[in-house]
Amino acid sequence: MYQHILAAYDGSEASRKALQQAVAIAKGAPGTKLTVVHALYQPTYAFGEFGFIPPEDYDRRVKEYEAKLLDEAKDQAASLSNVDFAVLTGYPASAILEYAKQNNCDLIVMGSRGLGAVREWMLGSVSHYVVQRAQIPVLIVK
Ligand code: ATP
Ligand code: MG
Ligand code: MG
Repeated sequence: MYQHILAAYDGSEASRKALQQAVAIAKGAPGTKLTVVHALYQPTYAFGEFGFIPPEDYDRRVKEYEAKLLDEAKDQAASLSNVDFAVLTGYPASAILEYAKQNNCDLIVMGSRGLGAVREWMLGSVSHYVVQRAQIPVLIVK
């Protein structure tokens, strides 16, 4: 049914579950392609999940983090033959939407929450933004 699924991955538990669902959907539909995307957003990487990173360490730390995330995602999608990985830059929600548009994705799969600390809201800001603006179906996994 779906030709090209985009799974948005930030290493969080919800994004792992989302990737699992995306893999399951792709497996059940021969010919479906899956692309796992991760967006690097500079302020997050400089001050967020890591705490403060000194500017001279920034590039190295980001590369290490990116490699670690890609390895995890590759492990989880190892059973698929038609799978690809992309690291994007920019505000994650716009980067995800832009990638989906440019690459004719027909389903976005993402977690309800990510790595952010605020727990009261049902949706994180990235999933909220994507759901509001996407012109294709979005599967939110929790
Ligand atoms: P907030 O970021 O608003 O503090 P949060 O981190 O809990 O809240 P989101 O960032 O919206 O929640 O994460 C929801 C989902 O969006 C994640 O499970 C993941 O699928 C996707 N996502 C979030 N950040 C990224 C990113 N940098 N790259 C790719 N996907 C992402
Ligand atoms: Mg987040
Ligand atoms: Mg955040």
